Amino acid sequence: MSDILTIAVSKGRIFEDAMPLLKQVGIVPNEDPEKSRKLVLETNQPDVRLLIIRATDVPTYVERGAAELGIAGKDVLMEYIGDDIYEPLDLGTAKCRMMLAGLKKPKPITDRPRVATKYTNITKNYFSAKGQQVEIIKLYGSMELGPVLGLSDWIVDLVDTGNTLKANGLITLEHIADISSRMIVNKAAMKMKSARIKPILEHLEEVVSRNS
Ligand code: AMP
Repeated sequence: MSDILTIAVSKGRIFEDAMPLLKQVGIVPNEDPEKSRKLVLETNQPDVRLLIIRATDVPTYVERGAAELGIAGKDVLMEYIGDDIYEPLDLGTAKCRMMLAGLKKPKPITDRPRVATKYTNITKNYFSAKGQQVEIIKLYGSMELGPVLGLSDWIVDLVDTGNTLKANGLITLEHIADISSRMIVNKAAMKMKSARIKPILEHLEEVVSRNS
């Protein structure tokens, strides 16, 4: 293993909310990922770099050791199949809720409820834990349209302010999980690079608890 530490992170809210925390532990990227087209960003620390990738790819890079560390939403981690990743720290950022939602004025459901979602594993696990049979319809976005157009009875999606649901005539029905960004670590790297990784995690933990 090289001495370089690679932190995988996705652009957007996860990055924006996590950067101030990384800054407080002394890691600052040399470029703004929102402005740069580079996928690998150097930082002020010569042995730390950031990998800018899709949120759903972060666990894959970390599990396979292409990145030692990663920052991923709990939604992505719950949806990810694989277990070779440590999840030592809740950063408490990019907070929202995974919710079941449906029309404010629904039509009666006569058969197995149809649930449209991008989060098929989370949905499957949630309903099987409840012992309820549902039909899951995989969508890649704009889940709110499902019930509006009669494609599904319910949706499973992330909810923050609730404005998106409200604007489409939907209401929350059940709370599935609280979501926030997590620091994840490759298991082999945690052992072999612990002298480098542990102080960063400890410092981050201190910063997170001070901020909360
Ligand atoms: P809101 O209208 O504030 O409830 O936000 C809901 C929309 O934003 C949905 O389309 C969600 O998929 C998305 N969203 C909300 N919070 C997050 C988050 N923490 N990470 C990713 N997407 C989010």
